Amino acid sequence: MNKRIFIKVSGIVQGVGFRPFVYNLATSLKLKGWVNNNSEGVYIDLQGSEADLERFIYNLKNNAPPLSYIDNIEIEEKQLLDYTDFSIKESEKVEQSITLISPDVAMCDDCKADILDPNNRRYGYPFTNCTNCGPRFSIIKSIPYDRDKTTMKKFPMCRICNEEYTNPTNRRFHAQPNACKDCGPHIWLADHNGNVIKEDSPHCNEYAVIKQTQSFLRAGNIFAIKGLTGFHLCCDASNFKAVSELRERKRRPHKPFAVMMKDINTVKKYCNVNQKELELLTGIRKPIVLLERNSGYTLPEAVAPNQNTLGVMLPYTPLHELLFQNGLEVLIMTSANVNGLPLEFENESAIRNLNSIADYFLLHNRDIFIPVDDSVVKVINDKERLIRRARGYAPEPIIQSAEDGILCLGPNMKNTFSLSKSDYIFMSQHNGDLENLETYEHYKRNINHFKTIFSFEPKLLVHDMHPEYTSTHFAEEFDIPKLEVQHHHAHIASCMAENKLNETVIGISFDGTGYGTDGAIWGGEFLICNFKDFKRIGHLSYANLCGGEKSIKEPYRMAISYIYKALGYDFSHNVVENFFGESAAEFLKLIHKKINCVSTSSMGRFLDAAASIILGINHITYEGQASIELETAITKTCSEHYNYKIDQSIDNDDVIYEINFDKTIAELLKDKLSGTDKSIMAAKVHNTVINSSVNLCTRISTITGIKKIVLSGGVFQNSYLLSNLSNALKELGFEVYTHSKIPSNDGGVSLGQLLIADSYIKNNPNIL
Ligand code: ZN
Ligand code: ZN
Ligand code: FE
Repeated sequence: MNKRIFIKVSGIVQGVGFRPFVYNLATSLKLKGWVNNNSEGVYIDLQGSEADLERFIYNLKNNAPPLSYIDNIEIEEKQLLDYTDFSIKESEKVEQSITLISPDVAMCDDCKADILDPNNRRYGYPFTNCTNCGPRFSIIKSIPYDRDKTTMKKFPMCRICNEEYTNPTNRRFHAQPNACKDCGPHIWLADHNGNVIKEDSPHCNEYAVIKQTQSFLRAGNIFAIKGLTGFHLCCDASNFKAVSELRERKRRPHKPFAVMMKDINTVKKYCNVNQKELELLTGIRKPIVLLERNSGYTLPEAVAPNQNTLGVMLPYTPLHELLFQNGLEVLIMTSANVNGLPLEFENESAIRNLNSIADYFLLHNRDIFIPVDDSVVKVINDKERLIRRARGYAPEPIIQSAEDGILCLGPNMKNTFSLSKSDYIFMSQHNGDLENLETYEHYKRNINHFKTIFSFEPKLLVHDMHPEYTSTHFAEEFDIPKLEVQHHHAHIASCMAENKLNETVIGISFDGTGYGTDGAIWGGEFLICNFKDFKRIGHLSYANLCGGEKSIKEPYRMAISYIYKALGYDFSHNVVENFFGESAAEFLKLIHKKINCVSTSSMGRFLDAAASIILGINHITYEGQASIELETAITKTCSEHYNYKIDQSIDNDDVIYEINFDKTIAELLKDKLSGTDKSIMAAKVHNTVINSSVNLCTRISTITGIKKIVLSGGVFQNSYLLSNLSNALKELGFEVYTHSKIPSNDGGVSLGQLLIADSYIKNNPNIL
């Protein structure tokens, strides 16, 4: 008995090889009908035996192309028609439609086999790709997504490539960046001034360039290599001299370098890899995965000083794969940029800006239109945790309905922005810190690009409450309704959104810096909140942040501030002099007189103070260094904690709790003076944070009846805190919600802003 069904598939089903997949599946089952693309996704009209139709549906659900994501499948039975074959129909052009754009994807296994097979026409070709892999977001200039609108436009396909491109049964059917040696981009080698290095061999071919690069790398040279979505600085990670030289030239003394390793077996030689980490390392996104080092770890300390982890990724382009074909095992692959400036992605600019860092350039002529940094993830409690959401993830939509036309500008550090359209939220890739003109220009260019590719016009601009944020100033330039959102409310909202919560929760936001409604710098906050509103029910007791930015870059200042707060001026004098020298006593005076001081409840700053006391870290050279090294210092199990107090006051009939660490600091100083093991002190400080948080949550829950606890903020990148705090809360019967695909750090803030704005519009429709 024949039957006809009409199937509507929605989700990420365009530009990901979905139609050829449907075509091949339908024809293999001898089903008749057609498939097309339209504004709602993909429509499939199918006719055939009931059993074959069932097989079709099963495969549709279970074996769809790797880049696709099916949100919903609707099936409707229809009257039989006289179809004679199965075809791919022209796409319907519908106004107001939205094109979902795939992130850039790591090379697939089939393409890897192609480039390693001497009998394949793509043997050794560094720009091999197919429908399931290769560049996407980074090469798209505008929509609709076809070759003419990408940076591949300048490479007309040769006859054979075109045959692949037009054949629905071919793996390269409609693969827009399809190319081969004869028609596609190529690589070349240049010296540090950008002068092309000619090979001795008759043709300056791909093979010779790779061989020469490998031998220069082996000799300890530093390279700038143009990759899929930007440049990397690269050298042999096992070569101590090369790594130290790179640190020197990049003026980056401590911040860990990421490495790329030849294959998964190499990774296992140096690091512990659990199942989840293995999936992330070898999956289609290939982010940098932070792994714990194992006993076989032998790389020079300069690769990642004072850490017990290492950021590792596997080769994700044919070019990377080819580089590892000749004995090299571990390469430093760090973003190629000059101190704080955006990632380099254009040949000329890279040569201009990196010529004092790189000895050689490995360049190519497939232009990158939009640069995207490598993503960074780590696994905590068996779950993927994004730290930086960029290549391989952005601009994949977050499927969540919100009012159309909201543009959320994000915070200043680790900026991302988010916008809403057609029941999707699009979050930008990591834009870096908006501290300099170059990064700000890059940010504005990205916003414009998102407006183009998603045909988006903002109706409401949402920005952080901080009056001095670049994004706040940017918002002021436009004559569009605006909404300001408190930083930690946004943090909690981002985690609620990710966990599909829409109710009142207890939010714990532990963070570095966020502007509070009282003008203080918040960051150790307990909020009762939903998308509409928040109430600050608890926070760390205020300490003085003296000298602004300097207190962040010089953690000993926070240590002095906390010692002053704990012991008072008279008693802290000797201690401070003893620990930090005579000049520090001057600084103590400034605090005492409250000169250039602002109050802060930041958990990040508290951990900085503890790190400075325990480890003697006085200056840091990258953000979060002190607290990262403090977590790293915990090498022994210890369940003890220091004493602390929870103060309670009444403000306008509302109870406000303050966690007071004065006793903690006093006991820590005593431990320090008596020569207690650093690992024990570090663990006790962390346990104090956990114990006091659990204690306060219990009190808040008792008076409010709320059982759901949401954890967000940059401090929760700390594995020890996140895992032990959530476990402790769960043991007491709380439901604990944490981040996974959205960063807990400021990278997630724009998503939270969006849900808060959505709720605001729903409650105040007149704002627009
Ligand atoms: Zn492929
Ligand atoms: Zn070709
Ligand atoms: Fe934050």
